[in-house]
Amino acid sequence: MTRILRLSLAQEKMILNHVIQHLPEEACGLLGGQGETVSVVIPVTNSLHSPVRFRMDPAELLKALEWLDTEDLDLVGIFHSHPRGPATPSETDLHEFAYPESLMLIVSPVGKVWRLRAFEINIEKRTYEEARLIIELSNFLNEAGFGSKENI
Ligand SMILES: [Zn+2]
Repeated sequence: MTRILRLSLAQEKMILNHVIQHLPEEACGLLGGQGETVSVVIPVTNSLHSPVRFRMDPAELLKALEWLDTEDLDLVGIFHSHPRGPATPSETDLHEFAYPESLMLIVSPVGKVWRLRAFEINIEKRTYEEARLIIELSNFLNEAGFGSKENI
């Protein structure tokens, strides 16, 4: 079954902004939420400061995970960028991924446009399957102060 992840337009923008600000380095971060819905984007420093590798700063990662726990939120996704491609998980990504319950999101350029894709990783087989990413306009409206949460 294809996994689904729902992001608001504002959250997608936050991820893309974080990625673009850190060019040419890879950028990374966490997505907290419940079930298939993202409720918070937490940018994390890439401690390698590399254009081709990333490692989340351990202290920031720990702090973010603890915070998610106190907020009763799950780690629903981990994002990082591939400024030079590919748009899919690399061999290194498949070998280093430590959170099989979470989706891996990859941000990469397609021409001049940055695209976000989500993948479910099988860490034993070192394979991935693309998940369906749904960008919700309604969440964006809620965050801007319009509409009601019940409409989501
Ligand atoms: Zn990667």
